[in-house]
Amino acid sequence: MAVYLAGNLFCPREPEEDAIPNDVFAVQGREDDGTVEAIMLKIVCLTFDDGPSSNTGPILDILQEKDVPATFFVTAQEVNQDYLPELERVVEEGHQVALHSASHRYSEIYADTESFWLDIKALRQAISPYVDVEAIHWLRFPGGSTNTISHKYGGSDIMKRLVAQCGEKGYEWIDWNVSAEDATSSHPDAGQILENIRASAEGRDLCVVLMHDTAKTDATVEALPEIIDWFAAQGYHFCTVEQMYEARDGG
Ligand SMILES: [Zn+2]
Repeated sequence: MAVYLAGNLFCPREPEEDAIPNDVFAVQGREDDGTVEAIMLKIVCLTFDDGPSSNTGPILDILQEKDVPATFFVTAQEVNQDYLPELERVVEEGHQVALHSASHRYSEIYADTESFWLDIKALRQAISPYVDVEAIHWLRFPGGSTNTISHKYGGSDIMKRLVAQCGEKGYEWIDWNVSAEDATSSHPDAGQILENIRASAEGRDLCVVLMHDTAKTDATVEALPEIIDWFAAQGYHFCTVEQMYEARDGG
């Protein structure tokens, strides 16, 4: 049975829209005899921010073993430098590399819109030896598109302006609607991370899960096999952010 996805998922180019994806994911399944039957497809996009780091390799091992794709929103801070070559493996194994920030310093990237795009340019340059940067059109704003920390540096409308410029520059952006809360100061253990995700994913047919692959998030690596098993047991299909969008647009 061929499966076609359609419907109003969320529009990343509309700053007025709620950035959290809505959960109405209209799906049509076409039977072999041509009849169209509406079915619900549950989708999960696993996303990892702030890497690569020493934990990216172990995460890739788990994704490979479980045979599921993920999306990595990468940075090029001092701590990432030694691990940037790991991005070659990320792409080779069918995952998506997307942009997050070079410095990840809010005071710098949100000082004004020009600073933000200069930081993105620096990130593209840093990762260009390892990935085809021309093929990258997705980004995630540090702190999310609705963060208010940026107001302190760039004014209350800086996010609105950056969102508008994304459209002009040909970028798509995405936030998340499920959070592992794995990079918080409370340093949750693997059990707590799984619980955070389960609670946050409850009742959602489309989950974009925020996790981190930094050197500090060992507990995320530990929790990942169970996180994947849990989503699989709930009937979710795994895909990258890009694949989700292609599916939405009919492939
Ligand atoms: Zn981040």
